[in-house]
Parts: sequence; C-alpha cells; structure tokens
Amino acid sequence: MAVANRELIREINQFSILNTIRTSNAISRVEIARITGISRASVTGITARLISENLIFEKEIQDSSLRGRRRVMLALNPDAVYVVGVKISAFKVSFAVTNMEAGILSSLAIPIQTGKRPVEYIANLIEDGIRHCVEEAQLQLKQISGIGIGIPGFIDSRSGICHWTPLYQKGEIPLRDLIQERLKISTYIENDANTITLGEQWFGQGKGIDNFIVVTIEHGIGMGIVINSQMYRGVKSIGAECGHMVLIPEGTLCRCGKKGCLEAYVSDVSILELARQAHADQKWHADNIEQLTIEKVTALAQKGQPVLRSIFKKAGEILGIGLSNLIHIFNPERIIITGEGVRAGDMLFVPMREAVNRHSHHEMLSSAKILIQKWDDTDWARGAASLVLQELYKSPLNRIKPTI
Ligand SMILES: [Zn+2]
Repeated sequence: MAVANRELIREINQFSILNTIRTSNAISRVEIARITGISRASVTGITARLISENLIFEKEIQDSSLRGRRRVMLALNPDAVYVVGVKISAFKVSFAVTNMEAGILSSLAIPIQTGKRPVEYIANLIEDGIRHCVEEAQLQLKQISGIGIGIPGFIDSRSGICHWTPLYQKGEIPLRDLIQERLKISTYIENDANTITLGEQWFGQGKGIDNFIVVTIEHGIGMGIVINSQMYRGVKSIGAECGHMVLIPEGTLCRCGKKGCLEAYVSDVSILELARQAHADQKWHADNIEQLTIEKVTALAQKGQPVLRSIFKKAGEILGIGLSNLIHIFNPERIIITGEGVRAGDMLFVPMREAVNRHSHHEMLSSAKILIQKWDDTDWARGAASLVLQELYKSPLNRIKPTI
C-alpha cells in the first residue's frame, strides 16, 4: 500500500475514534473497536497516542453489570482545545472563550451600533474584544486554536468573503483576513444562522440527528440545513435564506425590497414595524411611541393588548406555513426554532403549530418534531466556537474530492 494511503487510513481511523469518544462522553476501548470496526490493536495504538497528546484521558468507573468492578473508560479532555466565538449583530458584538465541550470560560458583550462602519473599525473592535476575553479566561493567545465569527448576510464560508451584510461596509481586505493577520490565529467566518446550526449539531438538540433544520428568529429570519450529518451550504457556500420565501403575494413590504416574505411578518424588526404602523393608524395607543422596542411590544402583547397579540398571531400563522413548506421539501427529523424571537412564546408558537398541522400532510409531519429552543445570550458565540471545532475535527474524508 502506498505511504500516502496508509497515512490517510491512519488519519481516518483517528478521526473516527475521536468522534466516537466525543459523541459517547465516556467509552471503553472494546466498545470503540466494536462501533468503528477498527481492530483492537489499532484502537490501542491510536488511543495511546491521543492520550500522550493530551486530547483524551483515561477514567475509571464502577460498572454494575460487572458486579461493581472498575472499568477503564476513555473521555475527551475538555481543555485540550480552546477557541473564541464572536457574533456581530446590529447593536452589539459578543465574544466567548470556550473549551471543547462548549463550556464558557469567559464572555463579553460590547454594545455598539455596528451598521455602516468601515470593516477596519469592526476588525479593531474584534481584536480588542478577543484580547480582553482571552485574558479574562486566564489564557494566552497562543493557547487559542481558532476564532469563529458569525455574522448575518451572504457569507462565503470557504473563501471568507462577505458578499453582503447589513452590518458594515465592505473593505479591500475581508474581515476574516484582517483578524487572522492581526492575531495570527486561524479564523473562520460564517453566516450566523449556520453557526447556530453547528452549535446545535455539536452540543444541542441536533446532536446525533442526521437530518434537521434550524430556523432562527431575531432581527431577520435565518436558517441552517443539515443533510446526512453535513451542513448544506449550496453552490455558492452561502447557505439557505428561508426568510425571503414569498408566502403572501403582494403582501407586506420586506426590507429586502420584495413583498410578502416570511421575514416581513415574523422577524423582530418587522413585528416592531407592524406595531408602529398600527399605532400610526390609531388602532392602539402608547405614551412614548419613539421609545418602543420589540421587548416592550412583546411584554404588552403578553399582558393582553389585543392589536399587538393579533400581530403575533398572524406572525405565527405565516411562520407555520413557512415551516410546512420546509417539511415538505426536506422531510427533516427535527426543526429547531431558536433566537431572541422565541421570547414571544405561546402567542407565536400556538398559531404556528396550528398552521403547520393544517398545511402539512400527515405522513410528512409525523416524522418531523418541532422543538422551540430556549435562547441564551451566549448561544451565538457558542455556535461560532463550534465553527472552529468543526474545522479542527473535520473528517479527512471531507478533504478528498472524487476524481471522476
Ligand atoms: Zn424579503
């Protein structure tokens, strides 16, 4: 066998063993050999090397099936790798330093209006934030294996080029390269909904699920698709944009310029705008309309304000139609809904579920579980950190292109 092939096989076996340990929390060598089909001698050799490299460690547990005898198990060393996740949004930039299990060592949120600033300004801010956050975690930059940046817009994850984002002006050098040059750490950039999807796949409701979809509700509506355990990004590596599916022909004007998009009814920006519009039409009254925020609109609706409740009801119905379309196209095992917009709770999700049931065929719907994932502010950064972990632990098979 050629040397290159032998090395590749060893690399694939190592990936397979590491991945099996990662997904099972703690596992014996015998079990690894059984699951992966790799010989016990090879498992022993490869795991010895992984232990010497500090990537995994041995731990003894008492096994009740062996009359309480102790068994030696292998587990991932959570502190073998540290990464930084960064999320850029319209009003803040969030950072988190995490270990391999997405345990957060330190986090930071800088409130700032990011819109229309030069890309160099954003790069300065990110550099300072990362330095501060790494210091807070009592680490040094050289201990950081990678930086993942999540950002809304059309991002080519392969080239690192941001084709379009609402958050900053494009410059000569892509943001990814600016950060990489300044900090000398491998940097990855990705659409923010895709980073959340990776976070769900590594650590959340998508763990061990081969086919699932994530829909994020915040300023806009984002989406991530996992097919056969792989993120689907499309031919331009940009990803999916379900927010601009037109669901109501000639409906409400969307910020993209089209009418009747899903996003024009369901996103935070749109719900706030619809509430303002209803106020201008004198359908309801607020004392300080200029200070109205999505949080206030949500709280008032939850207290029973009928006009605002009807906006959320309509949003839920439209979202339900959109999800029904996704169920028919993808036949997913799960749809995970997350993002700051889940704060609306039942007044959005009860009409959504009713619409999904009404518009979906039973055969398709019966296998698709819809989960509402409670939102935590560090989820974006955790997702961006998963982007780095995915790159670090990419299967060697993914690097091989078919020759025909
Ligand atoms: Zn649109």
